[in-house]
Amino acid sequence: MITARPDVALMDGYHSPQLDVRVRLNTNESPEAPPQDWTDALAGAMRSIEWNRYPDREALELRRAIGGLHGVGPEQIFVANGSNEVLQTLLLTFGGPGRTAAVWEPTYALHSHISRITGTGVVEGERAEDFSTDLGEVARVISAARPEVSFLCSPNNPTGVVDDETTIREVLAMVEGVEGLLVVDEAYGQFAPWSATGLIADDVPVVVTRTFSKTWSMAAARLGYLIGPAWLVAELDKVVLPYHLDAFKQLAGTLALRDVDAMEARVQRLVAERSRVIDRLSALDLEVWPSGANFVLFRPRSRRGAEVWQQMVERSILVRNCSSWPRLDGCLRVTIGTTDEDDAFLDALEEIIA
Ligand SMILES: *Cc1c(COP(=O)(O)O)cnc(C)c1O
Repeated sequence: MITARPDVALMDGYHSPQLDVRVRLNTNESPEAPPQDWTDALAGAMRSIEWNRYPDREALELRRAIGGLHGVGPEQIFVANGSNEVLQTLLLTFGGPGRTAAVWEPTYALHSHISRITGTGVVEGERAEDFSTDLGEVARVISAARPEVSFLCSPNNPTGVVDDETTIREVLAMVEGVEGLLVVDEAYGQFAPWSATGLIADDVPVVVTRTFSKTWSMAAARLGYLIGPAWLVAELDKVVLPYHLDAFKQLAGTLALRDVDAMEARVQRLVAERSRVIDRLSALDLEVWPSGANFVLFRPRSRRGAEVWQQMVERSILVRNCSSWPRLDGCLRVTIGTTDEDDAFLDALEEIIA
């Protein structure tokens, strides 16, 4: 009988338990739906789709609208079914057998996972004690492995740490030194005080990836993109499957971009709520990390993380159990939800660790 490719057969898939609970704070989704106006406009526009025809292969209107948001033309925007598919296309194009991708742990697990699936070798460096990017360590990994692709994630999932501009510029200089590509994953970019999109230029090997899954309240739509040099976007277009972005999704994204203000207002509410949650967490017997995203990483001091996670589930509250991840022994990650959801989480946590 046929078996999977040996490296795939040995692989652990990517798992994020989807349990049926009352309060879901485990996957960093937005707790708020997109505006009703968007849903109505989308339902109306759907009637005009020519369902018997292939969609616009270039997704030009959507790419124009996204480019408008970032002050660049559509030729600098690549769109796909979630930013994970953007990462996959990048690795199919610039990684692959005989090539290497670098990550600094702890970080987003899919950077190394998708690298391996595409046959790209992975080198892992370490973040500093406080989980910030350690430039000495980055220099060591890049000069030793000369990776084709280097990943940064800012704000970093699952730690919440934001890299400042000086740090990203220095990493970029090192990446340029080995003729590599720097990928800055900004899935939580709108929560952060600055963005690496300002570094993008035709002769600079950097791309920034974004998603509609978090700040745009559209995880169900599976839509993500990157901003990068036009020549690089043209290479990705050769690799991605033809007509990969369906007509409905193209409309959903284009219509969402008409209401940037509503998105920014949601982000502001979550940022304010994040301070409230961090204040309450800080009063408990926990280690709590500062966050530039819509989640907070914490570690119970007197109880095992996995036990606390289980007792939360028994109270119908789901957070992310990171306790077995590299360097995150005993840690849990909670997504910022509505005030009610966060209160339910905080009350339960206070009870469990009291
Ligand atoms: C959630 C997340 C993504 C989003 O992936 P999509 O495929 O767009 O839903 C990408 N990168 C990071 C770091 C994330 O946390």
